[in-house]
Amino acid sequence: GIVPARRLQGLPEQFFAKLVGKANARAALGRDVINLGQGNPDTPTPAHIVEKMQQASADPRYHRYPPFRGFPFLKEAVALRYKEDYGVELDPETEVAILFGGKTGLIEISQCLLDPGDLCLVPDPGYPDYWSGVALSGARMSFMPLREENGFLPDYSRIGADDRRDAKLMFFNYPNNPTGAVATPEFYRETVEFAAANGIVAASDFAYGALGFDGRRPISFLETPGAKEVGVEFYTLSKTYNMAGWRVGFALGNARTVELINLIQDHYYCSLFGGIQEAAAAALTGSQQSVRELGAKYESRREALFGELERIGWQAERPGGSFFCWLPVPKGMTSEQFADIALEQADVVVAPGVGFGRHGEGYVRLGLLTDEDRLREAAARIGRLGLFG
Ligand code: PLP
Repeated sequence: GIVPARRLQGLPEQFFAKLVGKANARAALGRDVINLGQGNPDTPTPAHIVEKMQQASADPRYHRYPPFRGFPFLKEAVALRYKEDYGVELDPETEVAILFGGKTGLIEISQCLLDPGDLCLVPDPGYPDYWSGVALSGARMSFMPLREENGFLPDYSRIGADDRRDAKLMFFNYPNNPTGAVATPEFYRETVEFAAANGIVAASDFAYGALGFDGRRPISFLETPGAKEVGVEFYTLSKTYNMAGWRVGFALGNARTVELINLIQDHYYCSLFGGIQEAAAAALTGSQQSVRELGAKYESRREALFGELERIGWQAERPGGSFFCWLPVPKGMTSEQFADIALEQADVVVAPGVGFGRHGEGYVRLGLLTDEDRLREAAARIGRLGLFG
């Protein structure tokens, strides 16, 4: 038979594929399933962005191969957004790489920097794509636990000498998936120091950069003095402009790392379709009203859900950002057991915390990705199981 390469054997199981399968099987029985398990925005892309794509797609220039590394206007557009939103200066030529969504860059950076046997520091719980890139590179991972008592930030003082010596790359992600935690400027200053002192490339995943609650605007890692010397930030239009299906993202910052990502991409792809690049530039340079409304919308959904959680006696901390709620499961139950009960007895899909790593055990993740009434209904159904209070 066909024998897969060894690096594929190290790939973790796609946990969320299994979750989607279970939810679909339940819905196929005719059940009214409320799916809070996946992180897929439910709002359409703003009309002015869609219209730009429609006009641009007729331009015959875009029907040929796009230039390698994309059109300069898109790199200039993202640089402008960073200048306006974060006061960060980026050279569009050397400090910006265009990606097919943040996901491709998060995997490619491992392939750029890690040889077989090298070490990468990854957050636990964390977004599973970090593991995939490390596995595809034949490298090793060391997990940095994110503990609730530490605001779900890694504690660098607990990283041992061997890991400091061997690590070449590290990932962090705020606003955080799955915990909803946000970073502090002090944490980012410590991160720059830690990365510089140990020769580690720092990779900031800023997928939820537009989503901060309670009047707090999330900060970019690149705002930190020295950040560009040690790392890059991955930025995506998927959540900020409800463009998950369009597949547009960026790697920004350290010029050497950006160059390596561009080099790998020269071999995989030329670039995105030109019409999509025009639409993405329109998103970044046009009115930002929809982005301001987005934060308010997820915040009122959060309030709707937490109102009902309080009523049913499910005690938890509100997320400070992202669109995820990280809720402790009742004592004596694993996160998978809870998720199975919620699906089978309440027709509610939640993501078991253990899918994000060993330290995710004891929690489930609920996405604020349906309207307020459905969120309340989901919590009320779980409340009727009598597991809380
Ligand atoms: N990083 C995190 C933490 C995410 O949750 C996601 C998407 O769910 C991504 C990155 C990647 O998003 P995209 O590839 O759509 O840019």
